[in-house]
Amino acid sequence: MPRPIQATIHTQALRHNLQTARSRAPDARAWAVVKANAYGHGIERAFEGLRGADGFALLDLDEAQRLRALGWRGPILLLEGVFELRDLEMCSRLDLWHTVHNEAQIDMLAAHKTNVPQRIFLKMNSGMNRLGFRPDHFRAAWTRLNALPQVDEISLMTHFSDADGAPGVAAQVAAFEAACADLPGERCISNSAATLRHPQCANDWVRIGIALYGSAPDHPENPASHWNLQPTMSLRAQVIAVQDLLPGDTVGYGSSFVAAQAMRIGVVACGYADGYPRICPSGTPVLVDGVSSHTVGRVSMDMLAVDLTALPEAALGSEVTLWGAASNGAVLCIDEVAACANTLGYELMCALAQRVPVVVD
Ligand SMILES: *Cc1c(COP(=O)(O)O)cnc(C)c1O
Repeated sequence: MPRPIQATIHTQALRHNLQTARSRAPDARAWAVVKANAYGHGIERAFEGLRGADGFALLDLDEAQRLRALGWRGPILLLEGVFELRDLEMCSRLDLWHTVHNEAQIDMLAAHKTNVPQRIFLKMNSGMNRLGFRPDHFRAAWTRLNALPQVDEISLMTHFSDADGAPGVAAQVAAFEAACADLPGERCISNSAATLRHPQCANDWVRIGIALYGSAPDHPENPASHWNLQPTMSLRAQVIAVQDLLPGDTVGYGSSFVAAQAMRIGVVACGYADGYPRICPSGTPVLVDGVSSHTVGRVSMDMLAVDLTALPEAALGSEVTLWGAASNGAVLCIDEVAACANTLGYELMCALAQRVPVVVD
């Protein structure tokens, strides 16, 4: 028997979350963002649940190729565009749309030999200072691109730095709109946070990432349940040992946890080498047979301990849900675990370790 740990990808939840995000922007077309191997879910595993999207947005040519191999014939957008001239041949071959965010990419396009003009998303740096042309250079970039025979339609995009928080999107929207006021082309500005929190910003296309995967972009201000999002990845393991502790007994490396009174703990077949953050402190929530409990002591490479004191039914083989949905349907949102690790649901799902077997339901 393999080690009793498994991740489950929930196809129906992916479908549901896509639908939920779409309902915030009913007039926009939706890119399903599947970079980072569909946020750790696996492109092939997530595809069935997300194929109702209007297109897929990602970064790696390899991932684009895998989508085409799955039979996807609709739009695919490279969110960082190409990295070298050769990549443009792949764009032509696989019919990929790509972002242009700097002059070097325009130079490459100008040098690209193709009879089929390419579909471009021209990116503005409206304040995030990551990728894109500054507003005062945007029009010149557009004009230069538009003059190239290699270029077909040009869409206009930008990315928000603060759609999930108090600063909001107003300043960036204003900068974007002012700089492309009379330029033709479709607009694409909203990510998950903007689509959920600022639905009035949705224009021709929205780019939905994290919301597809059941994590709230603005947790803890709003939990995933507030946005009607369901977990799409459940990480479950089993209790492989039970220990009865006396007052004063310690648990795990560093003996950092000391039992104040007699207690019963379960040792679970999940550790940081499975992608469970070592930094999660004692007291991080888990579900044991679908009932709330918490971790005890330090997370080690292959194991962690959970409190069974209040769960007399729990025993060897009991199911422990580290995040996602338990078999009985109870939910422990990945965002709650992430918060204990001082990070985001994004990072946890992307870091699911290779050694964890994954099934699709
Ligand atoms: C990753 C990414 C998104 C999706 O962001 P979420 O917060 O996951 O919705 C959208 N646009 C760009 C350019 C991205 O890189």
